[in-house]
Amino acid sequence: NTSLHELDPDVAAAVDAELHRQQSTLEMIASENFAPVAVMEAQGSVLTNKYAEGYPGRRYYGGCEHVDVVEQIAIDRIKELFGAEHANVQPHSGAQANAAAMFALLKPGDTIMGLNLAHGGHLTHGMKINFSGKLYNVVAYHVDDATGQVDMAEVERLAKESKPKLIVAGWSAYPRQLDFAAFRRIADEVGAYLMVDMAHFAGLVAAGLHPNPVPHAHVVTTTTHKTLGGPRGGVILCTSELAKKINSAVFPGQQGGPLEHVIAAKAVSFKVAASEEFKERQQRTLDGSKIIAERLVQDDVKQAGVSVLSGGTDVHLVLVDLRHSELDGQQAEDRLHEVGITVNRNAVPNDPRPPMVTSGLRIGTPALATRGFQAEDFREVADVIAEVLKPSYDAEALKARVSALAAKHPLYPGL
Ligand code: PLP
Repeated sequence: NTSLHELDPDVAAAVDAELHRQQSTLEMIASENFAPVAVMEAQGSVLTNKYAEGYPGRRYYGGCEHVDVVEQIAIDRIKELFGAEHANVQPHSGAQANAAAMFALLKPGDTIMGLNLAHGGHLTHGMKINFSGKLYNVVAYHVDDATGQVDMAEVERLAKESKPKLIVAGWSAYPRQLDFAAFRRIADEVGAYLMVDMAHFAGLVAAGLHPNPVPHAHVVTTTTHKTLGGPRGGVILCTSELAKKINSAVFPGQQGGPLEHVIAAKAVSFKVAASEEFKERQQRTLDGSKIIAERLVQDDVKQAGVSVLSGGTDVHLVLVDLRHSELDGQQAEDRLHEVGITVNRNAVPNDPRPPMVTSGLRIGTPALATRGFQAEDFREVADVIAEVLKPSYDAEALKARVSALAAKHPLYPGL
């Protein structure tokens, strides 16, 4: 019964310091969120002790009667949330969900298409030294230079030329919605599977504020910790036809024992995601990113060479374009960190600066919306960011404005 503080004060101190960091700064990394206390309680439960290889009702271990209940609840809830025929809630992460989905549908050497990493795609969509780039022949598509949006004419042309077995639609850094019906039409024309990776925008879909890819795709993968606001983890949704293939690709194909404590936490977060309060939060997430995009295209920031990719946003993030700014991505990230705002630098299409420096920033609103930020708060954050991106800025004054916002919306307790 020894507490963490008694047993391991070193780790406890680092955890406490991280709690303080989360409470006292503004988290604007687009892939992050704050899990509710009930989600963390489930994740910190005795379910961590249980081996449960297999699936509910068909396990390779005894004593699974209670974890079977938990896993079935998680499956039923996420199927209902997205209108899916089948769900596998066992992937330990988004990357493992993608690996398993590809393992189910492809053979090594098959051709896949995905959005280029520097244009907003994810590592698992075909990056050279990721498993996806090593195992499969990758043909990447891009965003159009002029519009900043995925070039569907290029997708169609490349699909017809390269005859992929799988087309991946999805992104980690893209401010607009994809046309899933158009992707499916192209996939059907060339006999490819369509996989949508909705890791980033799953929460928006659950709230009915973003088109649902499930009716269009053969397979949909997601993480559970981004806009969805649950524990770190992955999920695969698919048609009944592919259910067996997907399940055996996850276990025993990719993983051993499922993390039933995390699955319990996923189940709790899916319950939250079906609520009215969650929908209202996702609306504030979208409103917040629009407020930020609108502030960062005003003349005072434009004069500093700052603009916004695609001119705005339809989702929970804004991509700031610093290609014409004196400030590079690294410097902008550091300046925001200095005043108490956490973001990540991000390569922009045709980035003239190296990948460790970049000419962009990815700014997301999910975590602040979870914290209770309203439009007026997002207007204040947007203005602080605008000031930081100008050639000269008053760090102390901006730090005070950030601290006031953090104090206005307490975190833990509060969720
Ligand atoms: N897919 C997309 C689109 C992502 O953005 C990410 C993570 O950033 C992943 C998959 C991978 O998720 P994880 O970090 O849980 O492996």
